Order: sequence, then C-alpha cells, then structure tokens
Amino acid sequence: MTGSRSQWGSVRVHVIEPGTPGSGVYAVDQPDYLILNTPCGQISLYPWQDEGPSPKYAVGLHEWVTAAGYRWVGDTCRIDRSGRGITRDDYVPRRLMGEYLQWFYATLVASAPAKLEIVHHHTEATNIVSRGTNASASCWRTGNTSTSTTSS
Ligand SMILES: Cc1cc2nc3c(=O)[nH]c(=O)nc-3n(C[C@H](O)[C@H](O)[C@H](O)COP(=O)(O)OP(=O)(O)OC[C@H]3O[C@@H](n4cnc5c(N)ncnc54)[C@H](O)[C@@H]3O)c2cc1C
Repeated sequence: MTGSRSQWGSVRVHVIEPGTPGSGVYAVDQPDYLILNTPCGQISLYPWQDEGPSPKYAVGLHEWVTAAGYRWVGDTCRIDRSGRGITRDDYVPRRLMGEYLQWFYATLVASAPAKLEIVHHHTEATNIVSRGTNASASCWRTGNTSTSTTSS
C-alpha cells in the first residue's frame, strides 16, 4: 500500500483465496472455548505509530472487539451491553480474531489508492511456475479451466 502510493506506477495484485479473505485459519464459526494464546491488547495488524493521520485500518484487536460492541457474557463474547467489558489482558475467542482479520482486509482494500488494483479470485491456486529471475506465473481454477497471470 505504502509503495503503491509513492514511487510505483499502476499495480494489480491478484489475491487467490477460496474463503473470505483475511481470516485464514481463524474460522469465524468456531466455538468460543477455542481462545487465542496471546492477550488481545498485544495483537495488531497495524503496530506502527505514524506521525501523520493514521489509516482507517490502524486498529488493534482489543480496540476492534471493543468498538464492535463485544463483551464477556459468561465464557463467551457477545454483542451484549449487559456483559463484562473485555480488557487488553483478556484471551478472546479465536473466531473474533477471524472477524477482525476479515474487517482489516476489507478496510485495507477499500483504502487502496486508485493505482493499486486488488483482484480477488474466489478459488484455489493450482500452481506457481517460475519463469526466470524476476518473473513468475500463477495459475488458478475458474470453473473447469485454469487461468494464469505473469508478473515480472
Ligand atoms: C488451530 C490453530 C490455532 C492457532 N492459534 C494461534 C494463536 O492462538 N495465536 C497465534 O499467534 N497463532 C496461532 N496459530 C498460528 C497462526 O494461525 C498462523 O501462524 C497464521 O494463521 C498463519 O497465517 P497465514 O496467513 O500464513 O496462513 P493461514 O492463516 O493458514 O491462511 C492460509 C490461507 O490460504 C488459503 N489457501 C490454502 N490453500 C490455498 C490454495 N491452494 N489456493 C488459494 N488459497 C489457499 C486458505 O484458505 C487460508 O485462508 C494457530 C494455528 C492453528 C492451526
């Protein structure tokens, strides 16, 4: 993102992901008893402190779960005003990490400068072929056919 804002020309990024981009292994439908092994106040996809205005996605996990309205109701996290507030030291369910990662990706993409095009292919990558020092091609499934793109 930073590079594309400055010295580069137009850039097209192909994201090949069969699921909802962002969450990876952190499935959003897993039960709340599967918790993270790191306190939520120590997790952020944007750990930098900028001198200028921060981008919309400059939000850590604790800030995000709090802003989303999540609170503890017993051992589960729910959007429920009657629950106990989540602190920076709490180990929250992994599914909230998944929601945060999906939000972060969507916000990052929405904030991309015009010359950065991000194309999401909702499918599996089937191959990566090396074509010399600085060039490669990736292939992905589109229905029954494969499509490829080359970068250099
Ligand atoms: C059960 C479990 C619990 C974990 N808990 C923690 C924790 O509490 N704290 C912690 O710090 N770390 C934890 N980790 C480790 C952490 O999840 C990983 O380090 C992190 O998810 C790696 O991120 P990633 O984006 O590289 O891969 P992943 O999160 O695994 O994402 C890989 C992505 O690639 C996609 N993909 C796979 N094959 C293809 C294909 N052929 N074409 C296109 N897309 C494809 C998948 O759909 C997925 O979205 C845990 C890992 C597991 C398995």
